[in-house]
Amino acid sequence: MILNVLTAFSTRYGSDPELVLAGGGNTSAKEDGVLYVKASGTALSHITKDGFVAMDRAKLRAIMDKTYPSDDGPREQAALADLMDARLPGQGSKRPSVETLLHSLFPMRYVLHLHPALVNGMTCARDGAAWCAKLFPDAVWIGESKPGYMLAKNCKTVLDAYHAAYGRDASLLFLQNHGVFFSADDPQTLDDMLQHVLQTLRKQCDILPDLTDTVCADTAFSKALAELYGSNAVCRFSGCADALHFAESKDTMTPLREPFTPDHIVYCRAHPLYLADTKNAADAFAQYRTAHGYAPRVVFVRGQGVYTVAESDSRADTALQLALDSIKIARYAENFGGASPQRPALTDFIVHWEVEAYRAKQAK
Ligand SMILES: [Zn+2]
Repeated sequence: MILNVLTAFSTRYGSDPELVLAGGGNTSAKEDGVLYVKASGTALSHITKDGFVAMDRAKLRAIMDKTYPSDDGPREQAALADLMDARLPGQGSKRPSVETLLHSLFPMRYVLHLHPALVNGMTCARDGAAWCAKLFPDAVWIGESKPGYMLAKNCKTVLDAYHAAYGRDASLLFLQNHGVFFSADDPQTLDDMLQHVLQTLRKQCDILPDLTDTVCADTAFSKALAELYGSNAVCRFSGCADALHFAESKDTMTPLREPFTPDHIVYCRAHPLYLADTKNAADAFAQYRTAHGYAPRVVFVRGQGVYTVAESDSRADTALQLALDSIKIARYAENFGGASPQRPALTDFIVHWEVEAYRAKQAK
């Protein structure tokens, strides 16, 4: 029964591109000592009961109380092994979401975690924390932290402090450069909370993204780009007004040079390639490949817009969705003090983190 409710609201929110893109976001429900949480790499839009992993809540709580090595690699490896061990028998090869420990921290029955561009306009903005305190005084704000075990640990500290101060549990939590968690005992309350957050943010935004198509793709350049990427590669393109705006110069590109959230790293690779013109594209492409060890997946071109290139249609499509998502975030962020992307050290951690590599691999 609880899985029916969970599946219903998961697919409903998962089918709304304003709320969920690709494999982003996750949901969970709790019943009789078990947490049912989305499996990593599964898309919410088409999730079925099989897409959830059943976890032992007592074992999840024990993970939060355990002491792990302080070095990133050994700590995350040990925590991941314990997380896999906290699955109930019969879960096959399913791997619980990266954010399972966060879901288990909330005592409420249902948890909804999303990365909407509108919300991330605030969480990826210079004055995001101050705006959050002003607009959502009951919410908890979590500053930038390494994802995985350390993020769960930071959230536990802040949620425990909230409980001690107010004598009740926080049910709304914003994560800097990441997204938002809602928790409630029934799906209607969850929905009311979501609508309240979206409406409040919308009211605050005088500056809105403009994704109106204005320019058509340069087909010769698309073909050349696909060839540079590799055999059978495919390109996608958007010549929307805001893609043109950000591609206008190196300066206007500044907000998009670093990724905003882990999703952008997973689906677009950490950094876009910027071309002031397409004349020297081959050289610039080769330089990028040498510097990063892989080819760019997102290419901004002055006067044209944004191209994505990948080894399959679905990867090129997803990269374009996420590139447009970063454009939307950059625009929304202008209402909250201006864009503030992830710090390079954190990007580096995520690029080398096995858990996100797994999520990227799951994306066909
Ligand atoms: Zn997330």
